[in-house]
Amino acid sequence: MVKRLLEQGYISTPEASLAMERVPRHLFVPEELQDSSYQDTPLYIGEGQTISAPHMVGIMVENLDLHKGNKVLEIGSGSGYHAAVMAEMVRPTGHIFSVERIETLAMSARANLDNAGYSELVTVIIEDGSNGLPEHSPYDRISVAAAAPSIPEPLKLQLAEGGKLLVPVGGRLYQELMLVVRRDHQFTQENLGGCVFVPLVGEHGYNE
Ligand code: SAH
Repeated sequence: MVKRLLEQGYISTPEASLAMERVPRHLFVPEELQDSSYQDTPLYIGEGQTISAPHMVGIMVENLDLHKGNKVLEIGSGSGYHAAVMAEMVRPTGHIFSVERIETLAMSARANLDNAGYSELVTVIIEDGSNGLPEHSPYDRISVAAAAPSIPEPLKLQLAEGGKLLVPVGGRLYQELMLVVRRDHQFTQENLGGCVFVPLVGEHGYNE
């Protein structure tokens, strides 16, 4: 799977490819879909949600420019897979705080992360992540795995100086992946291209 992502140009750095090679995606995929674990496609994980396609996880971890020691906020734990890939890139001194609004998914993300050996590196919190997670801010990196109608202001404000935020922004069915960088108390933003995510549901997202 990783070889194909490299050939197709979705990932190019050794850090991203090593991290994706190390995380066993099948440990984050439901029993009945095990055969599809290493196909480059999103898969249904229950509650109307999906585990992102590997190429999208690759694009996101690479553009987020993750480094050893980073403190990262993830919004939308889903299966926990994306958090595990980021944990590989920031370990052993970094940490991932991953927020999930649906309790059953948060519980299974915790179980999956534990089973795959990431429970010390990733903390899963049940909350509306569209408000960020002020208690552990500021973050070096923020990764949003659900689509917002506009860039949620609390997330920008919880970035550390030099911090980077990746968030899909647009309509419910189609979005643009936006990269926001905080430097000298200013924010710059760049459009990385089209993408499709499930909606971010919450105060700074969509209504249910
Ligand atoms: N990155 C995940 C896939 C995320 S799917 C993986 O690797 O499996 C998007 C997730 O965002 C869903 O689980 C959805 O419940 C969650 N979500 C949507 N709105 C949210 C919000 N406001 N706060 C936290 N999680 C949210």
